[in-house]
This record gives sequence, structure tokens and C-alpha cells, in this order.
Amino acid sequence: MSKYIYVNGHYLLHDQAFIHVEDRGYQFSDSVYEVIYLYNNHLIDEEGHLHRLENSLSNINCTMPVNCNTLKLLIRELIRRNKLLFGLIYIQITRGIAPRDHKFPLNTKPSLIMSCKKLSYSEILKQQDIGINIITVPDERWKRCDIKSTMLLPNVLAKQQAFEQQAFEAIMIDSEGFLTEGTSTNLWILNKDGILQTHEANHKILNGITRQRLIALIKEKKIPFIEKKFALHDLQQAKEAFITSTSSMVKPIIKLNGKSFNNEIIGPMVIYLKQLYLDYVLGQVQ
Ligand code: PMP
Repeated sequence: MSKYIYVNGHYLLHDQAFIHVEDRGYQFSDSVYEVIYLYNNHLIDEEGHLHRLENSLSNINCTMPVNCNTLKLLIRELIRRNKLLFGLIYIQITRGIAPRDHKFPLNTKPSLIMSCKKLSYSEILKQQDIGINIITVPDERWKRCDIKSTMLLPNVLAKQQAFEQQAFEAIMIDSEGFLTEGTSTNLWILNKDGILQTHEANHKILNGITRQRLIALIKEKKIPFIEKKFALHDLQQAKEAFITSTSSMVKPIIKLNGKSFNNEIIGPMVIYLKQLYLDYVLGQVQ
């Protein structure tokens, strides 16, 4: 965790950084967040993340506590004070501090909390080379998963289930039998027809920034691709499968519900996409 944490205008030492007990983020999860990867002092897809943050806020009728340019300066100052070069920047905005009452308080200033943590690039690469285990669980979340809310209890419980079964991620299945996404990742397959496929961006998933970037890169390369939901049997029959997220980038799946997936071989498409995304990241700092 960072040495310094930003809390409502102050850069505080980690053990002195507190939020008020009546902050609505704490009381109601009345808050949204973002996580951005810092590669060699360069924020990857910062604009996309800040745009999604603004969208999440407008969807919950909350405003930015500072304008976007100021936020960018505050993020950079946090990075500077923590001497961070490679890692994750966590940004959370809550509706602010008010006596506990479900309805929106009047004239409350939103809270802004930011922290960061080291995550080396080689650590990500190492995990990518090993491949991951996933399990499937029922999707028990609300109907606005497109909002990046801190209300993550179903995700936390599902991830714990994955951990207890020695899996890296739990993929959620909706009430109609379609796979939506992981607890903190998007799911992709190279389907049995050789087409890259991922759930369409609607209220059922978070439209990952890594997902959006990879789609743009795939389109540039004219690789066959569709955004369409799919079921467990499609995943079981897929030629390859992987997840994407800010901290995972592109991670191949080699085990599904305790059984080997595609003989635990990391397929050529995932290897290609992993590199395509890494080249994009490297290209950002040149
Ligand atoms: N889905 C969910 C539910 C997530 O929490 C995340 C990570 N924030 C993602 C997908 C991946 O999004 P991103 O690529 O922006 O990290």
C-alpha cells in the first residue's frame, strides 16, 4: 500500500489516513471508483478511466469533487510523493459525509480518496505465462453492473469461493444461463468458429477499459470479433479463453471448474493478444 494516501485535500501518511464514520461510501457504498495502471510513470488509458468515472458518477447523480484537470494533477502528486513507477492508482469518490439517512443529503461535498500500490510489470508478465484457473458461480449482483460502484459484496463472496477452490477468478452466470464477467475481469473466448467473442457492453457487465482497448486493437488488425453473450457450453467448446482487466491485462484460462481447459495449453490467439496489448502499453511511453 502507498506511504501517502490522498483524503479530501490532504496527502496523509498511511496510518493516519481515515474517513469519517458517516461518509456515505462507508455507510451505504454510495460511491464509485477507478483503478489505473501506471507503467514506467505513464498512466495507461487515463482518459478512458476518467471518462468512465464521470459516467459512473452521473449514473448515481453525484458530481466530481474537483474538475478533471485538477484530478489529473492530484493523481500525479500522489504518484510523485509515493515515488511510484509501476503500480495501480485507486480513486474513489463517495457522495460525502452526512447523518445516516438513505435519501440523498442536501449540499454534501463528495469525498475523494486516492491510494496507490506497487505492481511490477514483470509480476504481471509472470502470471500471464502461467495461465489461470476459473470457476463459475451464479451472478447475484444488481442490474446496473455498468456502474463501477464500490458495492462489491457479491463479487467479494464469489472471489472468496474461487480462492477456496484454488482458482484465480470466479466467472458469473446470469439467471438466463449466460456468462457475464469475472468478479473483477471481463471474459473472452475464441469461439468454436474461430471468432473472438465477449459479452456485449450493456448493464450486465462493466465495460472494462482493457476490454475497450483490446477491441480497438483487434479491429485495427481486422481480427474477426463479435460482442455477444455466450453460455457455459460455448466456453467449454471454445478453442481458447482469457480474461482482461487493468491489473491482469490479458490472462489465459487453462482450467475451468476444476478440469483442464484445452489440455492446459495457452493457445496462439491469446499469446498474440497478450503481446498486442503489451506492445500498446510499451508504445505509450515512447
Ligand atoms: N469487470 C469488473 C466487474 C471489474 O471490477 C473490472 C475491473 N475493474 C473489470 C471488469 C475490468 O475492467 P478494467 O479493464 O477497466 O480494469
